[in-house]
Amino acid sequence: MSGKTFYIETFGCQMNAHDSEKVIGTLMDRGYSQVERPEDAGLVLYNTCSIRDKAEQKVFHRLQQFQRAAGKGKLFAVLGCVAQQEGEKIFDRAPHVGLVAGSASYTRLGEMLGRLESGERRVTGLSLVTDETFDTPFTRRDNPHRAYITIIEGCDKSCAYCVVPFTRGPERSRASHSVMAETRRLAGQGYSEIQLLGQNVNSYRDPSHARWDFATLLGRVAEIPGICRVRYTTSHPRDFGKDIVDAMDAHATICDHVHLPVQSGSTRVLAAMDRLYTREDYDQRIAWLKNARRRYSITTDIIVGFPGETESDFEETLDLLDAVEYDSLFSFKYSPRPNTSALSLGDRIPEEEKQRRLAILQEKQRAIQIRRNAELIGSVREVLVEGRNQALEQWIGRTSDNRTLNFAGAGANGPSLLGKYVSVRVTRSGPNSLVGESVTVV
Ligand code: SAM
Ligand code: SF4
Repeated sequence: MSGKTFYIETFGCQMNAHDSEKVIGTLMDRGYSQVERPEDAGLVLYNTCSIRDKAEQKVFHRLQQFQRAAGKGKLFAVLGCVAQQEGEKIFDRAPHVGLVAGSASYTRLGEMLGRLESGERRVTGLSLVTDETFDTPFTRRDNPHRAYITIIEGCDKSCAYCVVPFTRGPERSRASHSVMAETRRLAGQGYSEIQLLGQNVNSYRDPSHARWDFATLLGRVAEIPGICRVRYTTSHPRDFGKDIVDAMDAHATICDHVHLPVQSGSTRVLAAMDRLYTREDYDQRIAWLKNARRRYSITTDIIVGFPGETESDFEETLDLLDAVEYDSLFSFKYSPRPNTSALSLGDRIPEEEKQRRLAILQEKQRAIQIRRNAELIGSVREVLVEGRNQALEQWIGRTSDNRTLNFAGAGANGPSLLGKYVSVRVTRSGPNSLVGESVTVV
């Protein structure tokens, strides 16, 4: 190995991004230093995603690119969902890989790395039998102002299209005192925004004697001195109770945004997907949010072309977009995944038809976003400054309701505004972001 250097590339969701922060911390604790290019690293790690077929293919392309480098002492590790899903088959497909480990095994990462370092050729961590969460003091956070905190890992639902229960294992929650202690420590280090993470944060069940539910944990985290913003993702509509909206209403530090993935507007398709709620149940959750004390932005995930989705089912999804007027959405063509129950469903939708529905859906949503964002022109919003676009000479800010609001103005050529809260007047809008001018630094 060329010194103790590593390169890591992360694919997929925020859970993976945060897992990588913990993996990086663990590696650094073992004396490794991070490099920017795989060519310069002794150990190359891919933290993978298998939620859709395309994401899965990427990692095999990467591994092929570096096959020849393996002979020169470079070590390769495949972590995350593809590792869990493909297991030891990865060694057959890419014989230069030395470590294959799913996220449920990361508590043993130090030990597995030790075996790899001492020359073992095929180290695996593939057991899903665990009640542990990956809590480590060595997390190496990327962002100096916003910190992710995992509160629940795995998933006990069995949505017909989804690999997550097979790749991330059973649901297990982290003790509330551990979440609170980490948040206090982060606040002490200057982090002002906390994002609570889990595949389904609403089914959080505190394993400690305090027995807090999610709404209680959310409220308590929001009360920690120094914390100005709390976000959470993802919510499953079935477990999204009114108590969560009440906790948001009661705490101004909880951000004005809820991500509530619906997947389809048709009760028939929701039943085929095993989502455990109907369109009416979902409409009720939206009504709670629309009737709340504050105005919350609502975003969602939608899958088009699930097996058996008719034109009229699809139109129900389009109706839902009109009814809710989402502030943003992630939309996907259904992708058949290994092990999932939807594989046995007939009536597959042809690829061109999925593409047609996706284009219609995205066009409709774009028009909604253009209209909704234009309504904000003239208003003053508080942003947390997250970056700087040198080419445009603008600061990049994020509002509490999760919009990107960029601005020129005071400070652009003076002291850095990074990490500061700034009031910004919105002057222009587009489908995906806003532009404005700063009023005051809070
Ligand atoms: N736990 C979250 C929930 O229940 O909504 C979702 C987690 S998943 C990482 C993120 C999104 O990927 C899902 O909401 C869904 O829209 C999409 N997705 C998952 N499996 C998919 C598949 N097989 N094909 C297309 N999209 C998929
Ligand atoms: Fe996948 Fe459903 Fe679990 Fe979300 S709730 S991670 S979509 S199985």
